[in-house]
Amino acid sequence: MTSSNSPAAVLFADLGLPQPLLQSLSELGYEKPSPIQAASIPILMEGRDLLGQAQTGTGKTAAFALPMLTNLDPKKKHPQLLVLAPTRELAIQVAEAFQRYSRNMGFSVLPIYGGQSYTNQLKQLKRGAQIIVGTPGRVMDHINRGTLVLKDLEALVLDEADEMLRMGFIDDVEWILKHTPESRQIALFSATMPKEIKKVATTYLNNPEHVKIETKTTTASTIRQRYSLVNNNQKLHAFARVLEVEDFDAVIVFVRTKLATVDVAEKLSARGYRCQALNGDIPQNQREQVIDKMKRNKLDILVATDVAARGLDIERISHVVNFDIPLDTESYIHRIGRTGRAGRQGEAILFVTPRERRLLNAIERATNSPMETMEIPSANDINKKRATDFKELIKTTIDKSDLEKFHQLVSEFMQEGDHAPETIAAALAYIAQSNKPLFEAETEFKPPKREFDRNDRNDRGRGRSSRDGNRDSRDNNRDRGKRKKGPHKAEDMRTYRIQVGRNDGIKPGNIVGAIANEADLDSKNIGHIKINDDHSTVDLPKTMPKAMVKKLQKAYVCGKPMGLSES
Ligand code: AMP
Repeated sequence: MTSSNSPAAVLFADLGLPQPLLQSLSELGYEKPSPIQAASIPILMEGRDLLGQAQTGTGKTAAFALPMLTNLDPKKKHPQLLVLAPTRELAIQVAEAFQRYSRNMGFSVLPIYGGQSYTNQLKQLKRGAQIIVGTPGRVMDHINRGTLVLKDLEALVLDEADEMLRMGFIDDVEWILKHTPESRQIALFSATMPKEIKKVATTYLNNPEHVKIETKTTTASTIRQRYSLVNNNQKLHAFARVLEVEDFDAVIVFVRTKLATVDVAEKLSARGYRCQALNGDIPQNQREQVIDKMKRNKLDILVATDVAARGLDIERISHVVNFDIPLDTESYIHRIGRTGRAGRQGEAILFVTPRERRLLNAIERATNSPMETMEIPSANDINKKRATDFKELIKTTIDKSDLEKFHQLVSEFMQEGDHAPETIAAALAYIAQSNKPLFEAETEFKPPKREFDRNDRNDRGRGRSSRDGNRDSRDNNRDRGKRKKGPHKAEDMRTYRIQVGRNDGIKPGNIVGAIANEADLDSKNIGHIKINDDHSTVDLPKTMPKAMVKKLQKAYVCGKPMGLSES
């Protein structure tokens, strides 16, 4: 077992990756491998099988994509690598990641998933796709139709294997495994290792190396840790609001890439903050100048990557903001250690997107302390704070400034007209806002729709890793036939017949997985399922659009045409 308990000290260049890949990584602004990458890349590059325990957000896609791309041959035009993913969203994301990483290499990458027209997929398969990323049902169909030929497959990746198990795809996965050459390399990634996944690993993997990232558990008690659930595109807005109401001295903001340091720093500067980016591309002497400016109170916000902030010791840092959640918990501990120094109280704030919630759980476990939730301040909170600050400014101006000439001016104005002193003061306050309005409009900050289910955060044996918020509730309902019923009434549902039954080895999970993927229907909308010997029935909403029904009529389940018809 290879396990890592410290942030990887290696660089991508130390891992023997070829130049075109290093170039893509540099273009993407990646500075260093995440722990799962540092541990997995050398093993997979050697051609060995791997069993990796990692969740979404740890960088696991690059952990298999980079070594696999290193070993594949762009000149061979047949399918060389197959990645199986539980959902179409994940298949698309993984395919996009392969495209990004291989953009200087010239591979053809093809996502194939349910719900998409066969014609297009067939055309692209014929053209000679080299890397196929697909959901199990569709991949099986193409193998059955002879349109996907895996006889020369070099490698296979099972991504989010526990998720595939939960969605009822495990039999399909095994079927596909049996249709690949014995010589292929296999990488199996799973957030948790239920016994069914372990069984697949022992049956099909050849003396695999185990990779699991372990974490240590130390955070200073002088640091208050809070998190907020936000969408990616809300982060800047949320952060700006937090900055307005927090009493901060200096802030270090952590982002994932060099590009993001520049982007976020520019946007904060445009909002009037004294802010600078700090990343691995900044030469040492300039870095020292930036740090010095921060120490001397000439700069208030640094936007940094993990690498750039290593060893940073600035007492003034009152807040660490994890704008992007770190790829590993150890980095989180390092990051927040930049505050709460010299016995002072420190504040750590973390932005979490819905799909990263498992990483939040992992951090809470590693630090052994649940985090407080933090509400993003409302416009009302901000306006109250601005009013208080403004009153304070008036008070100090009265106390400390020479106002004689201004007194005269105001007296003159009062004699010339018929205005109450409050009206004059209000007009002056209005003028004083110049081009930054004192009061923010009451626009509501809408947090992501799907809130955390606190019960789901214990992570006990479930270990799913959501790819997007939409799947959260769907997956909760997907435990191999033990789905919770959705909020549907019998009169709102229609019973459909599926021409695949017990004799074909079908289970409720297969039906749920196929319908959810093919029609992109949330599983809570899938009602009662009955399995008979030669057919099955499933209740679906009467309001289901015709286009969805049509898609399902052409869909396959357990390698057989579903043949959906009204019962
Ligand atoms: P994954 O766990 O594969 O879904 O990756 C999570 C996110 O981290 C994705 O947005 C990746 O683009 C990003 N990422 C992966 N590896 C790195 C790295 N070494 N440095 C910075 N970002 C990364």
